[in-house]
Amino acid sequence: MIELVSAERCIGCNLCVKVCPTNVFDRTEHEPVIARQSDCQTCFICEAYCPVDALYVSPYTDEQVDVDERRLAEEGVLGSWRATLGWGPGRTKLAAIDQTPFINRILPERPIRAAGISDVRSPATS
Ligand code: SF4
Ligand code: SF4
Repeated sequence: MIELVSAERCIGCNLCVKVCPTNVFDRTEHEPVIARQSDCQTCFICEAYCPVDALYVSPYTDEQVDVDERRLAEEGVLGSWRATLGWGPGRTKLAAIDQTPFINRILPERPIRAAGISDVRSPATS
């Protein structure tokens, strides 16, 4: 659940307001405010998009927790999901290094040859 917008870090770009799928934030003249916290889906999208690591989304989905901004900053937790994804200048995107053999998990063990459906895997695996 979203717990923190750092007034110290925020540059007022309002990206978090735009990307939040459940409209949790309200714009202000300064940093956005968490106006509907209970609507948060803990999707981490806002944290991923924030260009200055000003947001903290707690992994607790249904439970509000007290957070200490200074401590989160010291521990490098603010914006850490964005860093994990490799978003931001100088970072390697997670998608670029992902080695998950996803296609092998969804294809059948044996080639499908019935009803005119040909094997879609390489000949070496058939
Ligand atoms: S995305 Fe980050 S910098 Fe932009 S308004 Fe939201 S908290 Fe502030
Ligand atoms: S974690 Fe997702 S639902 Fe929650 S405030 Fe951020 S973008 Fe909105």
